[in-house]
Amino acid sequence: MTAITLPSELLIEVCSYLPPSDLYSLSSVCKRYRTILWSSKSATTQAIWRTSRRKFAPYLISPPPNDMSEQQYIWMMVLLQKCMFCDETDKKKLTMYFEFRMYCCIRCLAQRTISKDTLIKEWEVPTDLLECMQSLSPNALHPQLFLMKQMKRTLYDFSLIRKDEDKMAWIKERREKVSKLQPIFREYNTQHDNGKYNYKERLERLFRTLNMSTEYPYRRNMSFLDY
Ligand SMILES: [Zn+2]
Repeated sequence: MTAITLPSELLIEVCSYLPPSDLYSLSSVCKRYRTILWSSKSATTQAIWRTSRRKFAPYLISPPPNDMSEQQYIWMMVLLQKCMFCDETDKKKLTMYFEFRMYCCIRCLAQRTISKDTLIKEWEVPTDLLECMQSLSPNALHPQLFLMKQMKRTLYDFSLIRKDEDKMAWIKERREKVSKLQPIFREYNTQHDNGKYNYKERLERLFRTLNMSTEYPYRRNMSFLDY
């Protein structure tokens, strides 16, 4: 009996022992496997990937957000080994921005985002509108950033609201939603980094974002608190 003709129950059983990378390879073997392994609706598919995640990527404690399937989540958090937009493969130059569902280099980030300053000074976007948008907090590598695509859509949606009271209610609702999501996204980024980078690499990345770039490379025998 070849693997292709395995009954579904047996295939599912086999899958429960496989790491995400093998599941991904298996899904590209044939259409039948793809159907079984790539369905975003099937509870069985979700269970297969969830089992694999818990077994082989235990650092991903959080389940995927509601609008993401297990396999999309694992693809982004575990399997993706290069910038989503270019061919950069050096993981030191890549960062997970779960807020924007992006794992990319700073150059590709810059092409898709717009700074708070530009939005206020050049686009003349009111500050309270910015508060109801998901953004990346400023650090040594970049200023506070907004995703261009999201910004344009939000400005358009906002322009359709006529009454001032409706505008205020809309802003209030969105602002609350954004502030609730912020710590959740931060947690996703942390869990991703825990799997992708070892302890020393995580410290190096932290120093960079804390404006410690002059201290590079990481100096031994100094604790984080010494800085
Ligand atoms: Zn890139």
